[in-house]
Amino acid sequence: MDLKEKIRVIEDFPQKGISFKDITTLIKDGKAFRRVIKSMADLVRHKEADLVVAPEARGFIIGAPIAYELGAGFVPIRKNGKLPGETIRVEYKLEYGIDIIEMHKDAIKPGQKVIVADDLLATGGTIFSTIELVERLGGEISAAIFLIELTDINGRENLSEYDVFSLIKY
Ligand code: IMP
Repeated sequence: MDLKEKIRVIEDFPQKGISFKDITTLIKDGKAFRRVIKSMADLVRHKEADLVVAPEARGFIIGAPIAYELGAGFVPIRKNGKLPGETIRVEYKLEYGIDIIEMHKDAIKPGQKVIVADDLLATGGTIFSTIELVERLGGEISAAIFLIELTDINGRENLSEYDVFSLIKY
């Protein structure tokens, strides 16, 4: 099965010049979705993981089933004001725009091993901010995993101190 074929590329979304990788066409195919999660979990199965941490919204689609597959817990990173408990926060820059993300203050215990996950690695800004939140609470990053990596943007370089894995490269 060619998983790349299942991803729909939409030009000029959400802004002119951006070639958007739309994973909705992949995840609505049950076999493809299962293959993706299984393959991503296989890439990091050798890593220690108490928790998988992922940013909303597409990160949840990928991160939660990987956590389930690995037998790890799942911790959501949410946009400003969405989490009900006490939070820590970071302001970050996206490929298009600026945002604030938050995580519950009690989500991670010092020394816990964490895999961060998202649908796509572009500049690395989103996952870098996610990692910052994890490390502030004393979590130890064992890997970063992505369904898609945009290799010409070189996000991997921003994450050079971490073990980075991706399933599909553009
Ligand atoms: P980065 O922070 O520059 O690495 O961008 C990655 C974040 O932006 C991820 O959370 C993605 O969900 C989102 N993103 C950027 N480009 C795309 C795309 O082409 N398709 C889907 N999501 C994207």
